[in-house]
Amino acid sequence: MKRRTFVELSSLLMATPVLSPVLSWALGSKLKNWAENVEYSTEQMYSANSLEQITNVVKAQQNLKVLGTRHCFNRIADSTHSFLSLKPMDKVAALDRGARTVTLEAGMTYGQLCPYLDSKGFALHNLASLPHISVAGACSTATHGSGDANGNLATAVSTLELVTASGDSVKLSREQDGEKFHGAVVGLGALGVITRITLNVQASYKMRQYVYENLLFSELQHFDAVMSSAYSVSLFTDWQHQRFNEVWLKSRIEEGKSFEAPQEFFGAKPASKDLHPIAELSAENCTPQMGVPGPWYERLPHFRMGFTPSAGKELQSEYFVPRRHAVEAILAVARLHEQVSPHLLISEIRSIAGDDLWMSPCYKEPRVTIHFTWKQDWPAVSKLLPVIETELAPFDVRPHWGKLFTISPEKLRSSYPKLPDFIELCRQTDPQGKFRNDFLNRNIFGVIS
Ligand SMILES: Cc1cc2nc3c(=O)[nH]c(=O)nc-3n(C[C@H](O)[C@H](O)[C@H](O)COP(=O)(O)OP(=O)(O)OC[C@H]3O[C@@H](n4cnc5c(N)ncnc54)[C@H](O)[C@@H]3O)c2cc1C
Repeated sequence: MKRRTFVELSSLLMATPVLSPVLSWALGSKLKNWAENVEYSTEQMYSANSLEQITNVVKAQQNLKVLGTRHCFNRIADSTHSFLSLKPMDKVAALDRGARTVTLEAGMTYGQLCPYLDSKGFALHNLASLPHISVAGACSTATHGSGDANGNLATAVSTLELVTASGDSVKLSREQDGEKFHGAVVGLGALGVITRITLNVQASYKMRQYVYENLLFSELQHFDAVMSSAYSVSLFTDWQHQRFNEVWLKSRIEEGKSFEAPQEFFGAKPASKDLHPIAELSAENCTPQMGVPGPWYERLPHFRMGFTPSAGKELQSEYFVPRRHAVEAILAVARLHEQVSPHLLISEIRSIAGDDLWMSPCYKEPRVTIHFTWKQDWPAVSKLLPVIETELAPFDVRPHWGKLFTISPEKLRSSYPKLPDFIELCRQTDPQGKFRNDFLNRNIFGVIS
């Protein structure tokens, strides 16, 4: 955007108490998601910098979706009417040292939050592969990292503050609202506008990251030992040659619990330099490896905070299977390698602890994810996804809410036991469907358009 246009837009935003739509996308390029595979269905975008402004927009609009950092690969965030961006609301509102919580405005990203938290002596339990995503958007879609004992990122939420369809402000906390809170946290953007989030934090910690190369699929017999061998473990594979190309082990440095990186890890050999998950690519954008100690927020993500891609030439899909089916499910995908590999950049296997959040794919049981970073060729990928989904169907598979899938709405809806309660919760905060869109109508509310 030209500097003059930006200044004009900035002053428009500052000066307008009842908001005008931000016109940036009317000035040229279409509004798209990060991967640019989704062109959103409207360019009517409002921006808010206060609770009052959010309430005004919500009251004025018949239908509205909040856009976070636009990192979803499907149309979960899309709107045919209007968007609301909370990007200017990116401050920490409170840090409660006693309660070990941080409260932040809902436009904040992990990249903004984490260095602040660390500077105050605190940390989060886990992070996704990159820090550029908004906390509200990530928690709303059950975004996760890896680690047998680590719940998804939404499990750190202790309080949510929302503006509902009527414009009322509602506060839901784990302590006071029990099941209703569990229903609201992974809210898929369907309950209202999240204005503030309070997260549980813990004392800051340091980590080391080690990468090993060539772990044979035959070692899957030791899957539990492999995945529990460090705080967070990721297995990367291109499904060729019956092996995981790389194993990423993220280990916390804790007194009396030093992780001795072995010379061989289930037959895999230590990397001799920092690696990208796709070994042929430069590792300069990746977080430091080779056991170099560093702060938690510079080791938990795979990609560096300072590296801010504005768009990506890739597509992503990810499937959650119950932990008990993990090995069978991985081997089922491995059998498809001839179909999968030509369209793939890389796959990643991660583990996530079970939780109590109704719409989390890990509700009440630990799961393992099988992730695919695809070349950006939707016609080919869209033909492959049903093949993979058929192979994974016997394992009670659930797709990532923010990634590409072709599982039918009926199957998806039937795999969430708390769905009827979630729909009822949505009706309480949004009786007329102000925050619904086509994705939610089909996949949650069962409305076929
Ligand atoms: C390169 C890349 C790497 C990724 N890595 C991971 C990973 O490691 N693990 C993983 O699980 N996922 C990963 N993802 C997926 C991503 O983290 C999620 O899709 C997440 O939702 C992105 O957050 P966002 O703010 O960009 O979401 P958006 O696409 O902007 O929005 C997602 C949903 O959240 C809602 N929402 C956002 N803000 C609010 C709010 N304030 N109030 C109400 N609703 C709101 C939107 O309406 C929408 O329904 C990755 C994506 C990319 C592009």
